[in-house]
Amino acid sequence: MICVLTGGTGGAKFVDGLRQVVPAEEITMVVNTGDDLLWWGLYVSPDIDSITYVLSGLLSRERGWGVKGDTFLCLQAMGQLGEPTWFHTGDRDLAVHLLRSRLMAEGKTLSEATSAICDKLSVKARILPMSDSRVETRVDTPSGELSFEEYFVQRWYQDPVNSVRFAGATDAEAAPGVIEAILSADAVVIAPSNPVTSIGPILAVPGIREALSRARGKVAAVSPIVGNAPVAGPAGILMTAQGLSCSIAGVAKAYEDFLDLLVCDTRDARAAEVLRKNGLRVQCAQTIMRSSDDRAALARTVLSHTIRGLRSDEPDSEKPATRAAADQP
Ligand code: GDP
Repeated sequence: MICVLTGGTGGAKFVDGLRQVVPAEEITMVVNTGDDLLWWGLYVSPDIDSITYVLSGLLSRERGWGVKGDTFLCLQAMGQLGEPTWFHTGDRDLAVHLLRSRLMAEGKTLSEATSAICDKLSVKARILPMSDSRVETRVDTPSGELSFEEYFVQRWYQDPVNSVRFAGATDAEAAPGVIEAILSADAVVIAPSNPVTSIGPILAVPGIREALSRARGKVAAVSPIVGNAPVAGPAGILMTAQGLSCSIAGVAKAYEDFLDLLVCDTRDARAAEVLRKNGLRVQCAQTIMRSSDDRAALARTVLSHTIRGLRSDEPDSEKPATRAAADQP
């Protein structure tokens, strides 16, 4: 069993690779819900949607979000009615939001609603929200505090960022199955997702960080930062705001209390060497996922370096230098 912690864009690309190399039934995803929002009165969970769509083959590859070939008639009609239209939802996408909202209005939890939608879309992998409690990513800017979607989608992440917080996290509980999935997996993989606003909210849920340090399988992370810049999006700005450098060292720092292996791009070979000298196992690979084959190759690389053995198989005396020698690109 492989457990993946993920957001919705870089994470979805990685999951697309993973599903090509591992039977879907053997994958459990723990998904960020800090970006969730009420839109036109409907409960929208953007990262859960992206992961559900990628696993059901419905994700639009061109856009990287929403359903492929979707139409936007409702969005147009809402605009004509004077309603806000900055958050784009296609018509088929909207059907999922309607169903989830109805299930939740009937008293189902987000986990139960997610599982019901996955069944209907024939998703065989397990998709777990990080929590059934509401945890909201809040981005503090000079113009005031914004939700993640206001900051990212409505305002095109142009605001300077003072800090990021996860409202509701301290009182939240991990959703059913999350802690068990992390503890018992043969390998845990942190997808190449934004360390602050996609993985940050998951780690802020009490018990999850601790489970990662106690996991029996190795914990690997794929860096979303390549050559000191994010492949896309605001990860660099947000990492800097949180006191992390925008580099593979910053990614390693964000996960330092539980990370066994960092997979970074071959372009970061020099920075990788520095991290190895500090005792971290680092594997360089081609991590830019342009094609379906790139995605599968990256998933294969990550798995080949994680599921070979469990943490407890490693002799205590194994020196970082020995691991480094085995990990040369
Ligand atoms: P979000 O929920 O939409 O923010 O999506 P994620 O957090 O899952 O993904 C955003 C991150 O994915 C960004 O920080 C990007 O740098 C990273 N990313 C996107 N495409 C790639 C890729 O092909 N390779 C790697 N290594 N990172 C990527």
